[in-house]
Amino acid sequence: MNGLMMDRPLLISSIARHADRFHHEREIVSVTVDDPLHRTSWGTVIGRARQLANALGRLGLKQGDRVATLAWNDHRHLEIYYAVSGAGFVCHTINPRLFPEQLIFILNHAEDRWLFIDPLFMPLLEKLAAQVTGLEGVVVLTDEAHMPATNLENVHCYESFIAAEKSDYEWPDLDENAASALCYTSGTTGDPKGVLYSHRSTLLHAYAVLAPDVMGLSCRDSVLPVVPLFHVNAWGVPYAAAMCGAKLVLPGPKMADGEVLYRLMDSEDVNLALGVPTVWLALLQYTEKAGKRLDKLERTIIGGAAVPRMMIEAFRDRHGVEVRQGWGMTEMSPVGTVNTLKAGMELLSPEEKLDIGVKAGRGLFGCELRVMDDEGRELPWDGKSYGALQVRGPWVCSDYFKLEGNSESHTADGWFGTGDVAIIDAEGFVTITDRTKDVIKSGGEWISSIELENVIMSHPSVASAAVIGIAHEKWGERPLLVVVRKENANPGKQELLEFFNDKVVSWWIPNDVAFIDELPLTATGKIKKLDLRKQFADYRFPD
Ligand code: ADP
Repeated sequence: MNGLMMDRPLLISSIARHADRFHHEREIVSVTVDDPLHRTSWGTVIGRARQLANALGRLGLKQGDRVATLAWNDHRHLEIYYAVSGAGFVCHTINPRLFPEQLIFILNHAEDRWLFIDPLFMPLLEKLAAQVTGLEGVVVLTDEAHMPATNLENVHCYESFIAAEKSDYEWPDLDENAASALCYTSGTTGDPKGVLYSHRSTLLHAYAVLAPDVMGLSCRDSVLPVVPLFHVNAWGVPYAAAMCGAKLVLPGPKMADGEVLYRLMDSEDVNLALGVPTVWLALLQYTEKAGKRLDKLERTIIGGAAVPRMMIEAFRDRHGVEVRQGWGMTEMSPVGTVNTLKAGMELLSPEEKLDIGVKAGRGLFGCELRVMDDEGRELPWDGKSYGALQVRGPWVCSDYFKLEGNSESHTADGWFGTGDVAIIDAEGFVTITDRTKDVIKSGGEWISSIELENVIMSHPSVASAAVIGIAHEKWGERPLLVVVRKENANPGKQELLEFFNDKVVSWWIPNDVAFIDELPLTATGKIKKLDLRKQFADYRFPD
């Protein structure tokens, strides 16, 4: 017997309708190329999204056709999110920091028909355009006064593109399983792979991240996503904020500028900010140098890479800010776990709380987790057994776009292999020890590069660090610590290695230290271990 409840589809357009009706006045502040501090509201953004949907309707697009963006976080990009998906097309956000060959591959593989682009990326597009096959037109996200000169064909100005359109638009009734957005993984090995989100997966993920122990978003929050709209839907914030009516503060091209981020937080009363560790390192360094305190910020969600202990401490002790670590990936929309203390844990000592805070967190309701050994047996949640982390849930991908059945990413019983190695403890807290391909195997035992990096990041002379495995005659592989020193600091190798004493078991301590000026970073600001391993391919440990 079925329940007698309405079967209403979960659609992105329903969020647009809700935001327009209930929080139309709530502010959205953006940094754009044409305006250093642009102010608008949810009502205006959704109205302009309806204008844009009318304009898209004239382009002869069919339902499911891909419309691409190459843009920073601002109100126009947000309008595209709602217009494209709401009208039944697929909003394909592209990461501009990818290599040119990857960008060409992605644009062609997705068969993007139109591209909405930030004026700052026009020189990039001009270089690629000859090799991009299916693109019919380009819309530049600015007004006529700021249009860049270009010799590309069929290039329009965004403001003029929508200006004459009516703001009345009937959002179509779509199937909730219809594709809504597309995002390619960065593809550290092989070609990037497309993750195709649906309206349903997007809404369920947005409901999930709203919850108090996840982002805890409400209409009273002012939120600064320093996570890009061009990568995994900025962790779902554009949808969740519209659902609850939070104020949105969008930093445009200033995502890595500690000073601008600080100013935005201060002037716009930002109490929740989200980003990857490298971004927060820049912000913390700026506040330290400038002698500023983050007075208005209450909590920050940090994920995408392991959060160093010193970062949690710095936010807590210098700024009174709560850090919530999160873990997830493009294939998971992206959030899978978030770290908040369980009832009773508030009585723990500050050090004990930090021991928990450095973990990736607990699985959200809706995201099932399991850890498997090499023989495919499930491992206990005992805080010490480590193995391959697999996930399952309504916002986890079931396959990759145009690779259906061919990617070997899923198990026969329907779980997705994350490519991460993890430990889960009895309370359900997950620790990511490594990516499978970054694991260091010494004498048949695993050493967690993430844990070693975490320890050394607390050393006062270390700006950033990475640990990689180097071939070793006796042990197979041994860890090498690669360090970028802080300005004016000059720690010796011995001093750094001794810092590990009593913090990790002695056989984990790296065999040597190498100093470099800069760590190679991926398009999403994570350390590119593959490149680092290549850089040190000829390195041999001293005898
Ligand atoms: P890419 O880096 O290829 O763009 P994602 O953005 O999807 O891919 O990154 C997902 C990966 O980032 C995870 O599989 C995991 O290895 C890493 N990651 C994310 N959050 C954390 C975390 N809190 N701790 C450790 N690793 C993390």
